[in-house]
Amino acid sequence: MGCVWFVGAGPGDPDLITVKGRGLIEQAGAILFAGSLVDAAAARYAPAGCRVQDSKSMTLEQIADWLIAAAGECETVVRLQTGDPGLYGALIEMTRPLDAAGIPWRVVPGVTSAMAAAAAAGESLTLPEVTQTVILTRVAGRTPMPDGEGLEALAAHHSTLCIYLSATLMPEVQRALSAAGWAPDAPILVVQKASWPGRELIVRGRLDDIDQRCREAGIGAQAMIIASPALGAGGWAELTPSKLYDPAFGHRFRRAVTAESDT
Ligand code: SAH
Repeated sequence: MGCVWFVGAGPGDPDLITVKGRGLIEQAGAILFAGSLVDAAAARYAPAGCRVQDSKSMTLEQIADWLIAAAGECETVVRLQTGDPGLYGALIEMTRPLDAAGIPWRVVPGVTSAMAAAAAAGESLTLPEVTQTVILTRVAGRTPMPDGEGLEALAAHHSTLCIYLSATLMPEVQRALSAAGWAPDAPILVVQKASWPGRELIVRGRLDDIDQRCREAGIGAQAMIIASPALGAGGWAELTPSKLYDPAFGHRFRRAVTAESDT
């Protein structure tokens, strides 16, 4: 009996899959991929004779049945998913039927789209003494948010917010951040199709005009919203330097010039 590998394909650029994920595709007997985003990785690395199918029109139950049937025939079965399989990827809904059928499965992490969006824009999601916390979240769509996880409550931390699945719900993002005390001129970044060769679209704006800018740019699905007090720091007049590179700060690989050794 085969093993089902849930492989993170990364955010879109086929070069952003991990070496381990690519190796599994190269030896796969069957690949079930999730939508056009990861099509390219499957097409580029799948061996001749490998069964490759898009799961776009399948229900979760059909997906599980397909994986179970494939594991009966092939040693290596790959379920290829966008970004990282552990984020908004229905991973557990698929692994439970595999467990029930006694089929082994493993997960290979992938580059999630929040990281690809920050990279595309040349931004750091953390900055010393500005924000040291990143929240990965979404606003409620058909999936409701659990108690205490509304965007307004999360935004009250004034840390970095990477907001998935919400590009078409920008007015709600604006409302929640304003209600949490973010200034009208707080910088907001939206990246559509981050890392897709030739298709990436970066929109920068302020809390009060980002919806309009996104509409003007034609932003639709596959877009990441990043709200963060660290955005644009590359252009600030002054910056608190990271202690990691401070000569007075010792760490595992370098001895401090002074006695300070706080981590
Ligand atoms: N597991 C995926 C997320 C799937 S949910 C991951 O780790 O990235 C789908 C959402 O992810 C989209 O609504 C969008 O917000 C985001 N997304 C996926 N690919 C993206 C990309 N290339 N650029 C920007 N956002 C992307």
